Amino acid sequence: LLSQEKPSGETALSYVEYLASDALKGRDTGTPGYEKAVRYVAEHYEKWGLEPAGDNGTYVQEFPFAYHQYQFEIPQLVIEKRAFYAQDRDFSVPRYTGGGKVEAEVVFVGYGISDPDRGLDEYAGLNVRNKIVLAMRGAPSDDVERWKGVDTDSAKTAVAQMNGAAGIMLCADFQEENRSVSWWRLRPGNYKQGFIAYGVDERVVRFLLKKDELEPDRMFLSRMREQQKKLDIELVPMSFNTGKKARMEVEVEYDAECIGKNVLGMIRGTDPDVGDEVIVLGAHLDHLGVRFGQVYPGADDNASGSAVVMEAARVMMANQVKPRRTIVFACWGGEERGLLGSRHYAKHPTLPIEKTVLNFNLDMVGLGDKSAFGGVYYGPKIWKIIKGNATEETLDFLQPDRGGPGGSDHTPFIVRGIPAFFLITRPWDAHPDYHQPGDVTEKISAELMGKVAEFLYYNTLLIANYDENLMVENRHALYIHKSAVVANLHPVPYEAGMAVLDSLENEWIDIQLVTVPPDSLENPSERLTALLSSLDEAMEAKTDLSKPNNAGMAFSSRRDGIISVTGLEGVESVSGDVTHLRMAAKLGAKYFILNGADGKWICPEKCLTDEGKKAIKVMNKQKIIIILRNQPEQVVSDILETSRHPVIIAGVKNAESMNADLLKKIGEKGGLLALAYNPSTDADDFLHRAEAFKESIGWKHLVLYPCFGGDLHVDRLDEMLNITIALKDKGMDEQEIGDLLGGNLESIFRKVLGIRPQRRHF
Ligand SMILES: [Zn+2]
Repeated sequence: LLSQEKPSGETALSYVEYLASDALKGRDTGTPGYEKAVRYVAEHYEKWGLEPAGDNGTYVQEFPFAYHQYQFEIPQLVIEKRAFYAQDRDFSVPRYTGGGKVEAEVVFVGYGISDPDRGLDEYAGLNVRNKIVLAMRGAPSDDVERWKGVDTDSAKTAVAQMNGAAGIMLCADFQEENRSVSWWRLRPGNYKQGFIAYGVDERVVRFLLKKDELEPDRMFLSRMREQQKKLDIELVPMSFNTGKKARMEVEVEYDAECIGKNVLGMIRGTDPDVGDEVIVLGAHLDHLGVRFGQVYPGADDNASGSAVVMEAARVMMANQVKPRRTIVFACWGGEERGLLGSRHYAKHPTLPIEKTVLNFNLDMVGLGDKSAFGGVYYGPKIWKIIKGNATEETLDFLQPDRGGPGGSDHTPFIVRGIPAFFLITRPWDAHPDYHQPGDVTEKISAELMGKVAEFLYYNTLLIANYDENLMVENRHALYIHKSAVVANLHPVPYEAGMAVLDSLENEWIDIQLVTVPPDSLENPSERLTALLSSLDEAMEAKTDLSKPNNAGMAFSSRRDGIISVTGLEGVESVSGDVTHLRMAAKLGAKYFILNGADGKWICPEKCLTDEGKKAIKVMNKQKIIIILRNQPEQVVSDILETSRHPVIIAGVKNAESMNADLLKKIGEKGGLLALAYNPSTDADDFLHRAEAFKESIGWKHLVLYPCFGGDLHVDRLDEMLNITIALKDKGMDEQEIGDLLGGNLESIFRKVLGIRPQRRHF
C-alpha cells in the first residue's frame, strides 16, 4: 500500500522538542508546565480526529493526588559545623518531607520501632522531643511478618512525629552491603510542615555515631554489626543520644488536594464480536519538573514514549485504519509520583478493563539502538503472535525479556493479569542522564524512535485485527501463580546432567529440591565418597539458592529459570556419623530429609536417640534445613524439642489425624506442614484439608507440594495452576496464595540459611 503513511521518527522528535522544551519546565504533574503538555497532546488528538476516551466525552481523565515538590532553595545538612551535600549523595530528600529549618541534637533509635506489645521499644528511656532521630531501615532479623506495619519508612517517621521529634534521618542497617544514600518512601500522611526527613549516607552515619573520630571505619562497622545482632536476636535496643547537633533545612511546596490528568484518545473497534476488546498504548507524559532550581526536561524520560504513542495515533488516523478491536492512546500523569495516572485508570477505567487484552507501555525509547521487550513470561500468547509475524530485522531489534510488575505504567495492567509489555531502549547504559537535568532533546535519536514507532504501529494493528480469541481464561489467577514463588518440595534425585531440571526450565516451578540419595554401597566410607562427589557435581551443575547472586534474585518474579536447592535424603545416607554430615554441609547440602529409622539416630522403637539429638544440633549449626517425612509423632515431637530452627513436616494426611499438641508445637517453632496436592484429584478436597489445618495451626505454617502419586510428573506441573484458581475463587488474597505455593517455605529457607531479603527501591 504505497499511499499509506508510515510512522516517522522525525515527526515524533518534533513532539519531543516541544514536550521537553523550557516552556514546560519538566512537566511535573499538577504544574502549569504539565497542563501545557496535556493541552498539546489533546489538541493533536482532536486535530487527527481521535475519539475522546477521558471523562465526560473529553480527552482528559482527572485523578486526585497530594502534590509535593522541593523548592528552589538548596537543601542543607550541617552536623557540628561539618557540611554535607545532597549533590555529593551525602543525603537525599524524600517525597513528603516537611519543609523548614530544624536545628537539634541527634538521637540514634536503632530501627526506630516503638512497640512494647511486640517486645521492642527503641525509644524507651529517651527523650526525643524537639530532637532529630536517626533510624535504620527494616526490622530485627528482617522478620517481615513479626514487624508488619512498624518496619516501613513511613511508620518510623510517624513514630518519630508521635514522640515529638523535630526531624528524622533514615539510613541503611549495618548488615547491608550497600550502605549508600538511597530513596526512602514516605506517605502523604507523613507530611508535616516543619518536620524534616532525609535519607543519609554511611558517611553521615559514621560522623554521627562514632564516639571517637579516630576509630577506623572497619572497626566501627563491626562494632555496630555486633550491636545490631544483639538487637536482632535478643531485642536489646542499641539507641543512644549522640550529643551531636545537626541543622536540616529545605523548602517544599505541598498541596493535599491537587488534580492530575491522563490524556486518552481512541479508535473504536469495528468488529461486532471483539470491537469492545481494548488495546492500551501507554506512556507517561509527566517528568520531575524543577528541583532545587534546576529544570529536568525529561526528553528521553518520557517525552520520547509519549511522542511515539502520539505518532502511532497520527499515522493510524491518517491511514484511516478500521481495527477490529478498540485502540486507546494513553498519556499518563503522575508516573514519577508512583504510577498515579495508570493506577487510577486501571481502577476507574473509561473502557472496560476486563475486556482489555493488551498494554504496550513505552518508557524511555529515545536513546540506544535496540529495544527491550519485557513481559513475554506473562503474555506468552501475544508474544508468540508478534514473534510469528516479525521480520528478522524486528527480531534483531527487540530484546525479549521476562518482564513483570514494577518500575513503570504497565504494572497496574500486568497485576490484573492483562498481558503488558514494557518497551525501553537498550543498552541499559544508553540512558546516562536518567533523572538528570541533562536528559535533553538534542541527545534523542529520531531514527531509534522511528523504529519503535514502526514496531508499535504494525504490532498494535496486528493484535487489534487478530482473528482468534485473545481473552485469557483465569488470567488473574494465572498472574498470581506466575508471579508467586512456587516451590517444589517433592525432590528430584540428582543425576549427572540433570536433564529433568533442564526440562523444568519453564514458568511452573521456581525452587526445586534436588536430592542426593544414599548410595547402595555397603562400606560407609565408600558410600560417603560417592555421596560427596555427587553432591559436589550437583552443586557445580546448577544454580543454588545460597550462591551470593542467587540469594537475592531467587525470590523475585523477575528471576529467570529455576533455583535448585541440593540436599540429602534418607536418614541412613550419612551412616549416622556427624562428621559425614558436616562434610556434606560444607559441600553445599542445604536440607536433610529424615525418613525411616537408621537405628543410630532414630531408633526402631520410634524415638530420637541421644546421638540423634546431637545430630540435630549439628544440622542447626550447619544451617541444614530439617525435613521430616513419614515420621511417627514421637520422633517429630523429639526433634521439635531439640531443634533450634523451624522444622518442615511432610507426608501429613489431614488435620484430624494429628495430635493437637504436636500441631501447636510445630506452629510455635515456626515450622511448616507440607501438604501433598494431587492436581488430578479434586482441588476442593485439598482445600478442605488445608482449611482444617488453617484452623488448627494457621496459614503461615502450611505449604503445598505437587504429588501425582509416585513420581514427579514434570510435564504436568502446569496443572498446579488449578489450585491457585480454586484458592482465588474461594476469595483468598494474593499474598495468602503465594504463601501456600512457596512463600512460607521461602521464609524458612531465609531464616535457616541466613539470607536477608533483597530490598527493592524505585
Ligand atoms: Zn519514566
